[in-house]
Amino acid sequence: MEIRGFQELIGKTFLERDRLRGLPGTFAWLVEEVGELSRALRMGRREDLDEEFADVLAWLASLANLCGVDLEEAACKYLSGCPRCGSIPCACPQ
Ligand SMILES: [Zn+2]
Repeated sequence: MEIRGFQELIGKTFLERDRLRGLPGTFAWLVEEVGELSRALRMGRREDLDEEFADVLAWLASLANLCGVDLEEAACKYLSGCPRCGSIPCACPQ
């Protein structure tokens, strides 16, 4: 699945609910899921990591849908490597 396809799927699945909840509420859910990802990273259980990464990605897609941001287009920022130094891998000083 490509980024745009995933974002469209999340839109078909949740956009109506996302619109009703609104931007602040949807952003709060994304932050909540990032918190759950943080806990999963500390616990180090692989199955939890898969689930929390999926949830963060889905809420990020929901938020992008509400904002009219195309995540695939946005991701192009990194197409030529590091946006700062322009290298792959990044050659910025540590
Ligand atoms: Zn760099």
